[in-house]
Amino acid sequence: MLTFKDVSKKYGNRVALDDINFHIEEGEFVFLVGHSGAGKSTLVKLLIREETPTSGSIHFAGYDIEQLSRKALPHLRREIGVVFQDFKLLPRKTAFENVAFAMEVSDFSNREIKKAVNYMLDLVGLSAKSRSFPHQLSGGEKQRIAIARAMVNNPHILIADEPTGNLDPNVSWDIVQLLNKINNWGTTILMATHASDIVNSLQKRVISLDEGKIVRDSMGGYNE
Ligand code: ADP
Repeated sequence: MLTFKDVSKKYGNRVALDDINFHIEEGEFVFLVGHSGAGKSTLVKLLIREETPTSGSIHFAGYDIEQLSRKALPHLRREIGVVFQDFKLLPRKTAFENVAFAMEVSDFSNREIKKAVNYMLDLVGLSAKSRSFPHQLSGGEKQRIAIARAMVNNPHILIADEPTGNLDPNVSWDIVQLLNKINNWGTTILMATHASDIVNSLQKRVISLDEGKIVRDSMGGYNE
């Protein structure tokens, strides 16, 4: 469902990604690891078409991402849920409104939006906080709201870019368990992370980047 073929990305003379090739099947949970500067964020940006590759092609769920017209971008972005390290919630909107906002660009009725948002808030365990504003929520709660927002349009893939980077270890673990649950229900997950303890305990596929190249692509954490 997602294929990077001979993908390179240069910023001026700087090579951020160098001839990247991989394929992810529907339903996989994949960790993307590597030191700072290895190219993880660039890879995510190419996938959501925030950047375009210098060469190569990216196929995702029937889209040729690098060739998409501006008009088709909203369709692509509905198929891809994204969660960030710094949550990126809208500060003046409640938890409910933050999740609902992701649906408002589509043609849903208020009733449909309310039903879907309440369902997602329940799923991430935050129904009781639907009227809270981001500043009234803990880091872990904010990330749960961000996950609800990323999932409310039922995307093909959920991309999590360092989702536990700002969270305490216990809370991080809860968030990873939630991502694992979402994956078990069928959504493909690509999670960029530095957290080697999480990667090692989950025993999923790991793609390692170093200086823009894939140096390892295998199952089961770092240590085997
Ligand atoms: P990571 O997410 O693994 O830390 P990045 O994808 O952010 O790595 O960066 C990969 C390389 O590309 C780094 O050398 C970085 O300095 C460079 N880079 C990333 N974005 C830009 C940009 N907008 N302009 C110039 N260089 C960039």
